[in-house]
Amino acid sequence: MFSSPSESSTPSLYPPIQPEGNDFDQDLVQAFQENQTLREHILQHAQLMQLLTHQLATPLTALNGAVHLLGEPSLAQEQRQEFLEVIQQKLQSLTHLLRDLMALRNVETGKIATQPTSFCFQTLVKEVIAELAPYPVMYQFEAGLPQVWGDRWQISQVLVNFLSNAIKYSPAGQAIDVGAVVKQSGWVEIWVQDYGLGVPEADQPHLFNRFYRVKHGDRQNIEGTGLGLSLCKLLVENQGGQIGFESIHGAGSRFYFTLPITPPFTR
Ligand code: ADP
Repeated sequence: MFSSPSESSTPSLYPPIQPEGNDFDQDLVQAFQENQTLREHILQHAQLMQLLTHQLATPLTALNGAVHLLGEPSLAQEQRQEFLEVIQQKLQSLTHLLRDLMALRNVETGKIATQPTSFCFQTLVKEVIAELAPYPVMYQFEAGLPQVWGDRWQISQVLVNFLSNAIKYSPAGQAIDVGAVVKQSGWVEIWVQDYGLGVPEADQPHLFNRFYRVKHGDRQNIEGTGLGLSLCKLLVENQGGQIGFESIHGAGSRFYFTLPITPPFTR
């Protein structure tokens, strides 16, 4: 038989039942909220799985078709080459999907720890641009920019995504501007401006959602996973910064994020 705490000095194995109505109500509300959060997580997970299934099914269907047709003995050499190109392209899509999914998972699970340091942002931009294909980029850095504080590698990944999107969605090869300005209260804003396709207004609220891709005729042949910007959001928020964009469909986009200026005690 269990005794109540008042009857014995031995602590009970079970927490005492609180008769007060208020605490009971609060516990009930908390349990309800936790249940609600859990349901939302399950729903989000199911939606992501559905999107992922779609992302996998599309290239796999194309691969299946191309491989099947390649088996046709009567196929002309030219067509054979065409199907081989489809296979190469679809394999590349799947490789990119896997790469982006792994990057997201590694950041989300903390496998890639955030290690902030003080660094010169302009130097990093130039390094990233040198690694991308040669492209006309105009720099517009405010004079005397201070060093910024963040994980240099994670920020380089944001820049790679912003710049490669700016290039990818400027099919006519328009120039790109990259700049940074000091914002009030210890923050720097970094931006990448392009003059390419821009983003239709109806798509703008969803752009940072996982697997979200704009389905417009002006970019139907541009490949992607729809994961790059959601990864950028995660990486920028890891540094305590904010991410955003402004865009006019048909005229171009300006993607930006903020980073803290290096605090004086770390210099
Ligand atoms: P992906 O480019 O792999 O589709 P992202 O998450 O990087 O995925 O981008 C999501 C969508 O946002 C893209 O499908 C594209 O239509 C749009 N987008 C991103 N960057 C730009 C840009 N600089 N200009 C126009 N559209 C863009």
